[in-house]
Amino acid sequence: MLAKEIRSKFISYFEERGHKYVPSAPMVLKNDPTLMFTNAGMNQFKDLFLGNAKADYTRAVNSQKCLRVSGKHNDLEEVGIDTYHHTMFEMLGNWSFGDYFKKEAIQWAWELLTDVYKLPKDRLYVTVFEGDESEGLKFDQEAFDFWRSYVDESRILNGNKKDNFWEMGDTGPCGPCSEIHIDLRTEDEIARVPGKELVNNDHPQVVEIWNLVFMQFDRKADGRLESLPAQHIDTGMGFERLAMALQGKKSNYDTDVFTPLIDKVAQSAGVKYGEKKETDIAIRVIVDHIRAISFAIADGQLPSYNKAGYVIRRILRRAVRYGYTFLNFNSPFLYQLVDVLADQYKGFFDELDSQRELIAKVIKEEENSFLRTLDNGLKRLEQIKERLVSQNETTINGREVFELYDTYGFPVDLTALIARENGFQIDEPGFQQAMAEQKNRSKADAASEKGDWTELLPDVKVEFVGYDHEEAESRIIKYREI
Ligand code: ATP
Ligand code: MG
Ligand code: MG
Ligand code: MG
Repeated sequence: MLAKEIRSKFISYFEERGHKYVPSAPMVLKNDPTLMFTNAGMNQFKDLFLGNAKADYTRAVNSQKCLRVSGKHNDLEEVGIDTYHHTMFEMLGNWSFGDYFKKEAIQWAWELLTDVYKLPKDRLYVTVFEGDESEGLKFDQEAFDFWRSYVDESRILNGNKKDNFWEMGDTGPCGPCSEIHIDLRTEDEIARVPGKELVNNDHPQVVEIWNLVFMQFDRKADGRLESLPAQHIDTGMGFERLAMALQGKKSNYDTDVFTPLIDKVAQSAGVKYGEKKETDIAIRVIVDHIRAISFAIADGQLPSYNKAGYVIRRILRRAVRYGYTFLNFNSPFLYQLVDVLADQYKGFFDELDSQRELIAKVIKEEENSFLRTLDNGLKRLEQIKERLVSQNETTINGREVFELYDTYGFPVDLTALIARENGFQIDEPGFQQAMAEQKNRSKADAASEKGDWTELLPDVKVEFVGYDHEEAESRIIKYREI
């Protein structure tokens, strides 16, 4: 089943059960002080759960663009190294706002997976919240009883608060949850280690696919749990992971969500995917990151020097450096993937198609800008490494990390990553101090970019008109409405 069909089956299944299709909210959030990027499907429905807003529907279904690179949910370090965490991914979800609760949520999830998608029942595990005495929370007997009518008891596992009590953040709607995991290993492997021992254990082929959250509480600022005025359902299923399971693959990257991008990168680099660990990781990082970057730009967040813009720039520079070091890309290459991506999502996320030229142009300029200093920065890092080795040290000091950041445009996490690859670490507090000192020195010119928010609403066309000035870090990309 093609990924596209998988997605539309999910949506139509819930539409047939009275759910209204609600389009994905933007991945980049503008007016939420607690969150920079959408990290779960429920974000856009937060006020409905809290009872602060009303909608003209009580059941919804959608596929939400999510980004998990900062804050409570940050998967960046896993991406590319493992085969099932992405920076940007799609979260399929069905929702009940004070309408149905555990019974239907469990029944429909199970029927969709096993009757419609035809996943083998003996490869699925479900988890139930075991309770937490410190908060007076009980074992979720109700969910257990509903599950028991579909699943053998040996496949229902207890889960702790970390995995089975979902919280949006420090405050806000929350509740116990049931996760569904799938075991994709071979029979031989399963005979050696039973799947239930590997659930929630970072095994690349025993992975969580769906989380059903039973929204019952509001976490208050003082830590208390208060009952919500009504009970809700909030579910989230990883689209790329579901595709892996349904297409019989061992990695999200082997599904048709990623293969067109991987083919393009491998062909440009003159390598084969699947032959060498280092190049494979680099390819996975690149095809993952290009999605995060492209969708962010399409949603109006350009790479820039601060806040959300800098998160996107960091992701982009990370991808450039992986390509440069492991695939010998020494001229811009990421931007060439935008067409592949836009073609792929045409008909569902049309924002890529309608802005493909702008997205490619922004990315190419960013690549050019970083490539200009990357080589020298890497040479500087080599010198630093030599110094560390000769002095028997293992930590790159804060001043050096700052120099790499300031002069060569190396985001701190990139320096940390390269350091790790070489068996070193960085002095992050030292870097923060060097950064603060520099800010004090030049408060006046610290008035960096303003207005990096360019709203790219569907009916507003913008045109790239060039840069304000040429310094690698503080370039201001200018757009104007046309
Ligand atoms: P995991 O334990 O694998 O990190 P999670 O418990 O943090 O996942 P949830 O917050 O429950 O994830 O999100 C709902 C679903 O979204 C998960 O069941 C999973 O299928 C998917 N998902 C979560 N994080 C990612 C990611 N970084 N990349 C791709 N899919 C993800
Ligand atoms: Mg996680
Ligand atoms: Mg989990
Ligand atoms: Mg989960």
